[in-house]
Amino acid sequence: MIFDRFRLNGQVALVTGGTRGIGLAIAEALGEAGAKVVIAGRTPNAAADARLSKAGIDFEFIAADLVKERAADELVAETLSRAGRLDILVNNAGIAIHGDSGEFSDAIWREIMTVNVDAVFRACRAALAPMRRQGGGVILNIGSMSGIVSNIPQNQVAYNTSKAAVHMMTKSLASEVAAENIRVNAIAPGYIETDLSRGGIDNPDWFPTWRSMTPMGRVGQPEEVAGAALFLCSAAASYVTGEVLVIDGGYTTR
Ligand code: NDP
Repeated sequence: MIFDRFRLNGQVALVTGGTRGIGLAIAEALGEAGAKVVIAGRTPNAAADARLSKAGIDFEFIAADLVKERAADELVAETLSRAGRLDILVNNAGIAIHGDSGEFSDAIWREIMTVNVDAVFRACRAALAPMRRQGGGVILNIGSMSGIVSNIPQNQVAYNTSKAAVHMMTKSLASEVAAENIRVNAIAPGYIETDLSRGGIDNPDWFPTWRSMTPMGRVGQPEEVAGAALFLCSAAASYVTGEVLVIDGGYTTR
């Protein structure tokens, strides 16, 4: 049965930034498919815990601040210690800070690169050893359409640069580890309604442009990303690696 290929029974998935927004929807989807899910973030979120519990999902929260140099390694180690294995790593945690490049400080540039790029690489690197030991695994990185086009009207050179790096990291790593039965893919969302995009959605100087430049004429919901995430993390996508799957209501068609 083709649907059986979407099942994740017996697998352990770690979702960074799994406490809210897109990460929570992905955690829920992987959990519904049968995986034990570890969600990570700086702070626990009671609403996320309630939602996953209500869905009957086997999950745990691990605190991690990915700005810290050792955090990704410690997070993977803690996941292994609590769950015994790691089959799926979803590098979803990310931050967006806008601003005019002429006044963009080194500190903010570095913070964005640390969370959006450095921590993603560190988590991938840490996950390789257990995945190799287990004979395979799946990594899914959350990039952005902003790694493909420079969406307007907001200025966000650091964010856009970080997401382009995530896409190339995905392809490079996929090529490197494909023969070891480890698949590495990315999703590049367009505007999705979350805490991260809330400021833009509520901004009358930005949102009309966001909407008019999106052929579907609306923002997406986290659940509209989660289904694709489940596909890419499951055996249904067993021949897919190095892909950057765009989910943007058509934004990048223009
Ligand atoms: P949210 O801001 O809603 O959620 C971000 C998640 O990341 C939270 O769980 C947060 O938990 C966690 N996080 C943030 N900073 C850190 C940190 N330093 N260490 C550990 N965890 C952290 O974001 P979205 O759900 O919107 O975004 C998820 C991903 O999707 C990001 O990579 C984003 O760039 C990408 N994306 C989002 C789009 C959108 O329109 N929403 C569009 C394109 C891409 P906590 O605060 O507790 O640490």
